[in-house]
Amino acid sequence: MAEIRDVVILGSGCAGLTAALYTARGGLKPLVLEGHEPGGQLSMTTLVENFPGWPEGIQGPELIDNMKKQAARFGAEYRHAHVTRVEAHTHPIQLRISAGEIHARTLIVASGASARWLGLKSEQALIGRGVSSCATCDGFFFRDKDIAVVGGGDSAMEEAIFLSRFASKVTLLHRRDAFRASKIMLERAMAHPKIELRTNTVVDEVLGVEEGEVKGLRLRDLKSGESDELAVKGMFLGIGHEPNAKMFAGQIDLDEDGYIKTTNNVFTTKNGAIVPGVFACGDVQDRRYRQAVTAAGSGCMAALEAEKYLEERGR
Ligand code: NAP
Repeated sequence: MAEIRDVVILGSGCAGLTAALYTARGGLKPLVLEGHEPGGQLSMTTLVENFPGWPEGIQGPELIDNMKKQAARFGAEYRHAHVTRVEAHTHPIQLRISAGEIHARTLIVASGASARWLGLKSEQALIGRGVSSCATCDGFFFRDKDIAVVGGGDSAMEEAIFLSRFASKVTLLHRRDAFRASKIMLERAMAHPKIELRTNTVVDEVLGVEEGEVKGLRLRDLKSGESDELAVKGMFLGIGHEPNAKMFAGQIDLDEDGYIKTTNNVFTTKNGAIVPGVFACGDVQDRRYRQAVTAAGSGCMAALEAEKYLEERGR
């Protein structure tokens, strides 16, 4: 017999842990399934300065750890599990995981979004050998080395600033000359003595595949069309994220980029009609704000709706 739970939460980032806190305090003993990136994006970031309540900022992993402990105090349980299949339209909802099956009366999808790659063969071949999407995980290995960061948003700026602690020089490569990054982050990067910004530039190849480590990048200037080589030991990607919602394709409505479509903030739909008991929150359904605090807010909403759903059905 499969285990049956009132609330199963997919994902242990900011949205999932807030949903866990609320449903745990509601006495629902939520089960949080932690996937391949436990803690979500905050666990891979450094100083978070824009989460209210921390006047000096707080380290992302510490913030996540606090949230986890806070929800556990009220009865939330955590389990590492890779969900291979979901039947979102059965009652209870069925989740196939690597080690068996779990049934859930309500499911809160908070599976977030994962780092995007350029998709070059040479890039893929050198992941972990100088190519990385996580500055906080790998920055340490680039002490006194020249490196490049790709992207023009806040993630790229944050990575470049963080990596400048270790690297001798950081070249930030962006494909346009206008940036998505917030003014404050862009200004910090521009003012940094170790960071050089190169715009209208794309990476055509990561050099060093034969040697098994990054030796440089072949770059192309989109305005002049000219190519040149940049000698770096590392390339960090800061080019955004892909929603982790593929397992729901065909079961609930996704938008053209694969984000879960929600109505009234956290209700999922199938062909526009609400899917009973399945709620989504955080970055897997938010392509607009994508902030820790908005993810937490939507996690709270999903939890309250799950509680209401169960209450209406006499649970
Ligand atoms: P983003 O804002 O979507 O920026 C992604 C950047 O990568 C864009 O500049 C984009 O270029 C570039 N890009 C995308 N695909 C590319 C490709 N294939 N090749 C080259 N460049 C590519 O993503 P983000 O920086 O991860 O930020 C996401 C959200 O999190 C934002 O709301 C951001 O404010 C927030 N965030 C905040 C902080 C903070 O406040 N400390 C830190 C990190 C993130 P184009 O501009 O040409 O599209």
